[in-house]
Amino acid sequence: MDKLSSQARSNLMSRVKNANTKPEIIVRRLLHKMGYRFRLHNKKLPGSPDIVLPRHQKVIFIHGCFWHSHDCSRGKRPTTRVEFWNDKLDANKNRDNNAYASLHDLGWQVLIIWECWLKDLDKVSGVLSDFLNPVNG
Ligand SMILES: [Zn+2]
Repeated sequence: MDKLSSQARSNLMSRVKNANTKPEIIVRRLLHKMGYRFRLHNKKLPGSPDIVLPRHQKVIFIHGCFWHSHDCSRGKRPTTRVEFWNDKLDANKNRDNNAYASLHDLGWQVLIIWECWLKDLDKVSGVLSDFLNPVNG
């Protein structure tokens, strides 16, 4: 799985670039089942978060492991055109970090859901409810 053919890579790219990727829909369904109201893709907020919960002042990003350099097997960088990919992926990472920092400055709390977590939806539900409904004390 580490070395994708260029065809597989471009399939992956076109899939990930689509705004309504499957992982996002999975997370939306979970939130919906948990009874949360949310908005989608607020372009006025830094980084244009995938899911916005205005009442909670919280935002959620659903990130593809490859494009956002997750520290997991799916986030491994290609072994060809190394410089090209490093530039591109580092730029993504910087953009992400700037967006998180700006959101924090504006008083928003940020949660990242990684694509690879979606293999275990119980875990994701737990992460979501911890984030949205923290237990005090
Ligand atoms: Zn991952």
